[in-house]
Amino acid sequence: MKLIQIEGLPFELIYFYENELFAFSQPLNQNLRPFQPFMEKELKNHFNLRLILIKGFLGYDAYFVQYLYFEPDKFPIDLDEKVRSNTFTDADFEDSIITKFQNTYCIYCKWKGPTLCVERDYYYKNFELQLKKTRKLEFKFCPNCGKSLRQSVVMIF
Ligand SMILES: [Zn+2]
Repeated sequence: MKLIQIEGLPFELIYFYENELFAFSQPLNQNLRPFQPFMEKELKNHFNLRLILIKGFLGYDAYFVQYLYFEPDKFPIDLDEKVRSNTFTDADFEDSIITKFQNTYCIYCKWKGPTLCVERDYYYKNFELQLKKTRKLEFKFCPNCGKSLRQSVVMIF
């Protein structure tokens, strides 16, 4: 894991490398939210996701478990290496977006399933960055009825 700052965001994040042990040392293992054992398993199945921890910067003394999502065809294959050697630039992260895990519910057909959704809170001071990122993404529709999930869902498990 490594503490990094990317894309001019007003906070640092703790970046976990691919297949890095999902373990948190003191005091990181306290006040972790929301921790999802489901994602511990899924991270191993998806090369285009990275676990990140972000210290609550809105007045919370807690670390938030989030996921850096890349479209599979846009994941920079040498990203871990660049982070390790401190040679990454903002360009390496331009196709990433900070997401959160949530069970998403379709209001039309009642389908419910595990998803990753864009976590807009982290971009609230960087609206242009958020716009640039969300314009590039295709949000997912309900896999059961095909209608809008009315959420910024980027991935359905
Ligand atoms: Zn539906």
